Amino acid sequence: MASVHFLCPKCDARLARESGETTRPCERCGAINSVVAPPDDSIIDRCAACGHDQLYFQKDFNRKTGIALVVLGSIFVPWTYGLSLLGVTILDYVVWRLVKNVIVCYRCQAVHRGYPANPDVKAFDLVTHDRHVYGAAPPGAEESQKAEGSSQK
Ligand SMILES: [Zn+2]
Ligand SMILES: [Zn+2]
Repeated sequence: MASVHFLCPKCDARLARESGETTRPCERCGAINSVVAPPDDSIIDRCAACGHDQLYFQKDFNRKTGIALVVLGSIFVPWTYGLSLLGVTILDYVVWRLVKNVIVCYRCQAVHRGYPANPDVKAFDLVTHDRHVYGAAPPGAEESQKAEGSSQK
C-alpha cells in the first residue's frame, strides 16, 4: 500500500494518507489540506503534498531497522566465531538491499512510500537542499563542495 506522509502546513503535525483515501482535514488542528496519495503504481514526479517537482530518494532506513539489525547480529555471534564481523557485514548488506527507497520532497519534506522508482528522481543532493532551505546557494557553496577532501588554504 503506497502512502504519503507530510506535515500539516498549519500545526506541523505528521499526517499520513494512503492511496485510495480521500482528502481530509488535519487530525490535530482541523486545517484543510488537499493532499491525496496517488495510486500505488504511479510514477512520482512531483510532490503529492505541495506540487513541487524537485524530489530525491533515500533508503527507508529508520532507527527501528537499525536496532533490529544489531539484535540479529548479536544473535548470530556465538555461531559465527571469527566470521562474526563478516556475518554482520553481509547482514548489513542484505538488509540494505531489502530496504526500499522512499521519495522525499526538497521543499516540504513529504515522504512518498511504496511507489515505483522514478529514474528522474536522484539521490539526496546537499547543494539542491541548501538552495531550498536558504532560497539560493550561498556564494561559493558549490566550489567549497568540490574542494572538500583536498587541502584547504
Ligand atoms: Zn494541523
Ligand atoms: Zn512537497
